[in-house]
Amino acid sequence: MNTMEATLKRIEDKGERLTIQRRLVIEALCTHAEHQTINAIQHTVEGKLTGSKLSEVTIYRILEWLKGLGIVSQTDMGADGIVYALLDTPLHHHLVCLNCGKVIDIDDSYFADLRGKLQSDHGFRARIDHMAIYGLCAECAAQAGDSTDKVE
Ligand SMILES: [Zn+2]
Ligand SMILES: [Zn+2]
Repeated sequence: MNTMEATLKRIEDKGERLTIQRRLVIEALCTHAEHQTINAIQHTVEGKLTGSKLSEVTIYRILEWLKGLGIVSQTDMGADGIVYALLDTPLHHHLVCLNCGKVIDIDDSYFADLRGKLQSDHGFRARIDHMAIYGLCAECAAQAGDSTDKVE
């Protein structure tokens, strides 16, 4: 089963209805493994649709629906805009430099403890599925003369 088939099956198993428009958006998400903005999804869909096209609002609503089903994540990547991606395991996250825009990918292990603690302290089941954490990368922090942790 490929990603597209597996995703459609997950949705059908939840008893959700699959319209042509919904299928097109899911197909666009499956075609490109990386994160996509709404405009990028719209562009992919346009290449497949003859005649009509999906409006940004329609795509947004479909993405909101997929987000609610836990199929898609929505992440604000700062300068790169808000991106959507299929929620695949293993999960990954990003460190985004506010100065140079560099993005560093990190694995999910950083959040394992946090999830467990939120659950034990608050009974809260956190859905940390695709995070962007802002800050300064090592180079930019050095340039900024951040000497707080400098060891002589
Ligand atoms: Zn990502
Ligand atoms: Zn930087």
